[in-house]
Amino acid sequence: MLKIVRNSSKALSIFTTRHISSTRFVMSSNNTSWNPSLSKEQLAVLRDKGTEPANSGKYLHNKETGVYTCANCGNALYKSDTKFDSQCGWPSFYKEFNKDSLKYNEDVSHGMQRIEVTCQKCGGHLGHVFKGEGWTKSLGLPIDERHCINSLSLNFKKV
Ligand SMILES: [Zn+2]
Repeated sequence: MLKIVRNSSKALSIFTTRHISSTRFVMSSNNTSWNPSLSKEQLAVLRDKGTEPANSGKYLHNKETGVYTCANCGNALYKSDTKFDSQCGWPSFYKEFNKDSLKYNEDVSHGMQRIEVTCQKCGGHLGHVFKGEGWTKSLGLPIDERHCINSLSLNFKKV
């Protein structure tokens, strides 16, 4: 049963403090929870589907062995051994971590027809997938896909 405390600013402030400290995620309008540790720049990509400037990302040249996870929810997205150097200015991968990693969405914004990839768990925007560019031939990749992913959407766990 809900107890209403009238004109008691002390009781109200205790309630507010408790409420805030127990809230790990802030709900946004489309029902996705955004981790409060995300920066303004990360939210602009993950939530608002922005794109980080080319050649600016912190994982662009990362060659360490590990797993790339969603910066918002921690879902495993890519293994380091599927990362390759496409010289496009963003981290590039040819294969998702597993069937629970990504969601593929048709994207017709900016006058282009593209496939957007979002985190399957939280819906955060990651980047786009381009197919049939010839990577199997030029680099010998097993799958001819370039997942062009924003570093800002990623965290990296070294293994
Ligand atoms: Zn996520």
